[in-house]
Amino acid sequence: MFAIYAVSSLVMVAGLGFVLAASYRSEARQRGLAEGRSEALLVAETGVDPLLDGRPLGARLDRDEITGLDRLVDRSVRSHNVLRLRVRNLAGNVAFSDDGSGFGATPEDDAVAAAHGATVARLTHLNTDINDHGATGPAAVEVYTPLTAGTPAHQVGVLEVYLPYAPINVDVSSGLHRLYRDLLAGLVALYLLLFALSVSLTQGLRQQVTRNKFLAEHDLLTELPNRSLFHHRAQQAVRDAVATQSHAALAIIDLDRFKEINDTLGHHNGDELLTKLAQRLVAFTRPEDAVARLGGDEFGVVLCDVKNPEEVLHRLREVIENEVEVSGLPLSIESSIGFVLSPEDGIEVDELLQRADVALYVAKAQHTGVVRYDPSQDHYDAGNLALIGDLRHAIDNDELVLHYQPKMALPHRRVEAVEALVRWEHPSLGLLSPDRFVPLAERTDLIDKLTQWVLQRALSDMSQKTELSQIRMSVNVSARNISSGEFASQVIAALRKHGVSADRLIIEITETALLTDPSHAAVVLAELATFGVAISIDDFGVGQTSLSFLSSLPVHELKIDQGFVTDMTSDPAHCAIVRSIVDLGHNLALRVVAEGVETEDVAGELCRMGCDVAQGYLFARPMPLDRLRPWLTDATRIHPASLR
Ligand code: C2E
Ligand code: MG
Ligand code: MG
Repeated sequence: MFAIYAVSSLVMVAGLGFVLAASYRSEARQRGLAEGRSEALLVAETGVDPLLDGRPLGARLDRDEITGLDRLVDRSVRSHNVLRLRVRNLAGNVAFSDDGSGFGATPEDDAVAAAHGATVARLTHLNTDINDHGATGPAAVEVYTPLTAGTPAHQVGVLEVYLPYAPINVDVSSGLHRLYRDLLAGLVALYLLLFALSVSLTQGLRQQVTRNKFLAEHDLLTELPNRSLFHHRAQQAVRDAVATQSHAALAIIDLDRFKEINDTLGHHNGDELLTKLAQRLVAFTRPEDAVARLGGDEFGVVLCDVKNPEEVLHRLREVIENEVEVSGLPLSIESSIGFVLSPEDGIEVDELLQRADVALYVAKAQHTGVVRYDPSQDHYDAGNLALIGDLRHAIDNDELVLHYQPKMALPHRRVEAVEALVRWEHPSLGLLSPDRFVPLAERTDLIDKLTQWVLQRALSDMSQKTELSQIRMSVNVSARNISSGEFASQVIAALRKHGVSADRLIIEITETALLTDPSHAAVVLAELATFGVAISIDDFGVGQTSLSFLSSLPVHELKIDQGFVTDMTSDPAHCAIVRSIVDLGHNLALRVVAEGVETEDVAGELCRMGCDVAQGYLFARPMPLDRLRPWLTDATRIHPASLR
């Protein structure tokens, strides 16, 4: 490319040189002719004109004129100033010729033109006119110029003179050679300048192209490959794994609580942390592996020909966890890693990445660090993806409905609260239970929209002057909801909007959700509790909440998981667990709720254990508001303490 440019600019400069040289040459020729013309004029005015008496010249000159001209010719020819001199009359015919040539010949056009007053000069050689004879003589400037005489001066004839071109040429050529030399030097300088310019421009362009290519494929902050290059590398690794019958691992790493660091220490420090971690990842992996920043606090790693990916990724996780100094502050950050192994888990990169994402989600939700994809974890089939798409519109189109299930205070079995349970009246699939779509929503930001919808609808129903306005309301929230910094203020704003007092709202959060991000959850729950909202730990017993963590939380209620309750009368172990939770709750000064109460036996046993509240099909199934209201009208159903 550059060679083409260099050669083409050379051709252009050379072309310019030729054109300029040709124009100089023609200019020099013109100068030569002009010089010849003025010399001829001088000869005519000073040498010939004074010899003439003012009569138009005839066919022959008189003796005096011939003598004068001979003398003039003698002087000029001898001094080599003139090669030939002829005098013509106004008809153009030769009247005098220094060498006797040209008499009787037909006048040339130039001679006729001069007879009419013009001065004509031509570059020629002696004896090359059609009327001339003899060998071709030296180069000459042939000039025809009018001769004038008399008073007043008028044209009487024509002077034809051949002046030697050699001396004129020497003069003109020396100037021309100087010009050629200067021209050559100028052109060489111009070419060198163009060459230097093009070298620097080409280098600049090449750097720009390299930079643009880099930017298109890399993350600006960490300079790691971006998602698109990662995809490409992953594809290559998968192809190699298939070809060499080895394994390639594709892992997605997500930093835990990075948002908190960003919020508290500022984006600048967050960026510094990401850059340092990126360097660590690169240092940890081998050159044939790939590390990329997939966005935010998410990194991707491809491990080629890997024997024990889980072990390697555990070590990688430790490397991330090692203290990093950011702005002089020692920080340690945990991460969750989801990974897949190709070809076992698939050979399509898009599918592999989606599966690694599912594994990552599980790792994050279960706090298990490194998790390999397992099809049983996967809820991302095409049907579910379509359902997530529909859900967004469902919320806007009010396709969701709330069913309310009463919570009965024991032992009197009076309603003390209802729990809002969401359902989806899907246009084609019918009424969908929350298990079908809430877990899907929880994997996206849609869960925020969904929870907001539930909260607004429940509070709006509570604010109406109905039976519902007398009791408390439980609303379920997901781990992802409380990970948003604005959740508490959103709840408080919703309470204000509907004019519902905070102590009538119970936020139910499952024990496992609480464990997703315990310290952050503690902050959000404390904020809600300060405002007067009660906190209930749902499905309690299936997670492994540490008792010290539990006692540190501003919790008001433990809701025993229905898995222990429903069969507690037939399963002594479950019975023991329920009894222990009831005792634990009371010892921590918490109310204890048993969910999934389906039989009188279970209800009786719970009463004996001193459980405070029971909820289950025995009392009522979740029902829409228009069925709940008549159900609640039975005054005996509402707990007197709930009445205001
Ligand atoms: P959960 O909060 O533990 O709700 C109790 C679930 O058990 C409800 O299922 C309820 O219908 C069911 N249930 C109640 N009594 C009995 C009983 O005696 N026997 C049996 N076998 N089941 C009983 P549902 O409505 O299908 O909700 C399932 C889960 O979906 C809820 O569990 C809750 O975790 C979640 N969920 C429901 N609504 C929402 C919501 O608005 N937001 C969020 N984030 N999650 C929700
Ligand atoms: Mg619940
Ligand atoms: Mg539950």
